Amino acid sequence: MKKQRIQQVLATDKKAKPQTDQLEFGRVFTDHMFIMDYSSESGWHDARIVPYEPLTIDPAAMIFHYGQSVFEGLKAYITPTGEAQLFRPEKNMERLNRSNDRLCIPRIDESFAIEAIKQLVSIDKEWIPTSEGTSLYIRPFIISTEPYLGVAPSNHYKFIVILSPVGAYYKEGINPVKIAVENKFVRAVKGGTGEAKTGGNYAAGLMAQELVANKGFAQVLWLDGVEKKYIEEVGSMNVFFKINGEVITPALNGSILEGVTRNSVIQLLKSWNVPVTERKISMEEIYDAHKQGSLEEAFGSGTAAVISPIGQLTWDEQDLVINEGKTGKTAKRVYDTLTAIQYGKEEDPFNWISKI
Ligand SMILES: *Cc1c(COP(=O)(O)O)cnc(C)c1O
Repeated sequence: MKKQRIQQVLATDKKAKPQTDQLEFGRVFTDHMFIMDYSSESGWHDARIVPYEPLTIDPAAMIFHYGQSVFEGLKAYITPTGEAQLFRPEKNMERLNRSNDRLCIPRIDESFAIEAIKQLVSIDKEWIPTSEGTSLYIRPFIISTEPYLGVAPSNHYKFIVILSPVGAYYKEGINPVKIAVENKFVRAVKGGTGEAKTGGNYAAGLMAQELVANKGFAQVLWLDGVEKKYIEEVGSMNVFFKINGEVITPALNGSILEGVTRNSVIQLLKSWNVPVTERKISMEEIYDAHKQGSLEEAFGSGTAAVISPIGQLTWDEQDLVINEGKTGKTAKRVYDTLTAIQYGKEEDPFNWISKI
């Protein structure tokens, strides 16, 4: 693929920036966005940074009908010396291409996409909030835009990157949540699209999430789609359990989304000589470990929260309280270390940081 130039059209009117303490997740967007188009004749072309504005899309565009789309999520952070930096963006772009392959969407040039993200973030750098725990969320996504109602891969796409300043995920410090084990609905099955980051997986998960939210749970724990026996993920995060000093996370099996945070947690634990295993783990095993008093911790991992400790798991009406409902030592140490690296407050021995 030949490298393209990125055209720039800067916004003449700048929007007012929100107060840092009023930031939510994903409601406010910056002044600019990145777009490039794809056609089967010209490949990816017309890369540009333009003022943030609504798109004009044909109502027959395939994205509206058959959901052929993929997305990513990563963040830009401000260091104590005022520099902007990204956390492992190459992992996100590799995954975007894996998702593209699964959804029959043409691949993008990964290093060019990172370059485009960096240019966009530099232009809107003033939008990166600087107070504790805040960041600029980056949402790259691809949609199929060909106006055609036939069921086939689209011949036209748009790759778009938008930016949203986000508040601290934990306003009162890292906090454990209550999780319901989902026994009826499934998120994904092997051979489906579970390992791709695509909107359809989220649409399929909404109902389960809604039903438990009404009962006061933060998320569902997803079990495998065939036997509903083995643990897969928690909400839209990967999941870890600490049993008898060993940290266990479900092995990637074709229906689990491979998180960048998951991969980073595993590497961190290994560097600390904490035993960490990727394997199949059943809900029954968790239940037994809890009964024997050897289930020490449980936590989710993902870009938004980084680490989300699980204080209680409810399975078939039974409440399993974990670590007295408090954040565990391992979860806390991983959270503190990862966020210190992301915000440039601690050395980065893994080469995870990409400066802008
Ligand atoms: C994005 C996502 C994750 C977490 O991935 P990160 O790269 O760590 O943010 C986990 N599970 C699902 C279903 C996801 O969509």
